[in-house]
Amino acid sequence: MAKVILVLSDALRYDVAKDNMGFLGHLVETKQAGLYKIVGELPSMSRPMYETIHTGVPSSEHGVVANSIARLSKMPNVFRSVRGAGKVTAAAAYSWFSELYNGAPFNRIDDREVDDERLVIQHGRFYTQDEFPDVELFMSAALLVRRFSPDYLLLHPMGMDYHGETYGSDSKEYRNHAIYQDALLAPLIVEWKERGYTVFVTGDHGINKDGGHGGASPEQRTVPLFVIQPNGQGRGDTDEIISHLQIAPTILKLLDVPIPETMKAKPLSLR
Ligand SMILES: [Zn+2]
Repeated sequence: MAKVILVLSDALRYDVAKDNMGFLGHLVETKQAGLYKIVGELPSMSRPMYETIHTGVPSSEHGVVANSIARLSKMPNVFRSVRGAGKVTAAAAYSWFSELYNGAPFNRIDDREVDDERLVIQHGRFYTQDEFPDVELFMSAALLVRRFSPDYLLLHPMGMDYHGETYGSDSKEYRNHAIYQDALLAPLIVEWKERGYTVFVTGDHGINKDGGHGGASPEQRTVPLFVIQPNGQGRGDTDEIISHLQIAPTILKLLDVPIPETMKAKPLSLR
């Protein structure tokens, strides 16, 4: 039975990922992975895009139109659908994901680590500080995989966003962090493939040289989608432009979970 890990690297730009993430690049170059270009939904802001990616609908439809809207999702979404199908969900992610799918407001103590089958995100490890070290989060995600074998796991590191907002996207700090994340991911991807996972690596939005995002410039909205399948087969660099809205139905289709009617975008064809 298929399982999925979504690596949602906050503020991972398409061009910077392609130029600096060498292990992912190797998998693409040797057709062990596929690479697509996502022209991201708007606004290119975090919380609206977290919800767009997980509901498959645009911001005006799901209503989380700004970062300031801190409430539970009102739409069918990936976590709820996977849970509804009796499968196991997990996340190592920013606290806003706990607010969107488990409960708001986030309690920094009670909600920080959860293992509760009744929750929508059953196994959650949540952080609240943008500078929380990515390596700690990646290892939390890796442990969740080993311990609970979730059918769907979200890994959501903030390092690209933190370095991009602090130093701007045209900086050694932002670019070098993409190299760093790729090196963290490489051994984990090898393990996760062996465990039967399909791994997606994407971004919620990009970032510009001023360290800003929210708008419609290519720097702010263009992100990659890497697709790594456990059978080692990939389409290589497709140069195809796809939509953020396709991610949710693609995940559910892979997991053999019914796709809610609200998710109208076409799932990607991965074969
Ligand atoms: Zn973000």
